[in-house]
Amino acid sequence: MIVLKSSQEIELMRQAGRIAGEVLHELSLAVKPGITTASLDNLALRCIRKNNAEPAFLGYNGFPACICTSINEEVVHGIPGLRRLKSGDIISIDVGVLYKGYYGDAAATFPVGKVSPLAAQLIEVTRESLNQAVNKAVPGNRLYDISNAVQSYVESKGFSVVRNYVGHGIGSNLHEEPQVPNFGLPGKGPLLEPGMVLAIEPMVNTGTWEVETLDDQWTVVTRDRRLSAHFEHSVAILQDGPEILTSF
Ligand code: MG
Repeated sequence: MIVLKSSQEIELMRQAGRIAGEVLHELSLAVKPGITTASLDNLALRCIRKNNAEPAFLGYNGFPACICTSINEEVVHGIPGLRRLKSGDIISIDVGVLYKGYYGDAAATFPVGKVSPLAAQLIEVTRESLNQAVNKAVPGNRLYDISNAVQSYVESKGFSVVRNYVGHGIGSNLHEEPQVPNFGLPGKGPLLEPGMVLAIEPMVNTGTWEVETLDDQWTVVTRDRRLSAHFEHSVAILQDGPEILTSF
């Protein structure tokens, strides 16, 4: 069942989303060659707590950190640790917060120092695919209009969309119905209605769309070990169009 949110609930989700966006902004300023992903995780925790929120991922299904840090061929769910970023890496950071009973979920991929033209293009295409998707999040459209917007844009640029992991509804639960795939046929799926809130999160690879999970049971990597990027916003569908709750 897709839970529709009241305007009061959307206002609380705006606050949760604003915190998630702010944390991601703080982290973006800290991404530099030499920093460890554990330091980024510590910074995220301080920033979340400063905002009187809770880290939503810590302990979720046993996840051991506040944020996911996924470097280069890592797609999602990378675990922060002692690895140091180096110039030429790209890092995807996913932040989830819980504030006054509601969740905010956002992600972005950042270049570390100077990156290759391919890496820079991957980041731009993934970011733009999310914009294209958000523009389809309007009442009267169907869910897979969003999905198709991601897929058609990404594939037109010669990249691929991950199939095994998808976006989701979000509210008083981190993951709610519906699933929001990054591929699909336009005009299909549930009708979009005011009050729906979706975490739309394209995961885009330069090579194959196929992925696998490392032995740590968390880190998802591209099967061909080529690059992957990830952008995510929590988006409210309102009468007059989409509102990005997690802007930064
Ligand atoms: Mg998410």
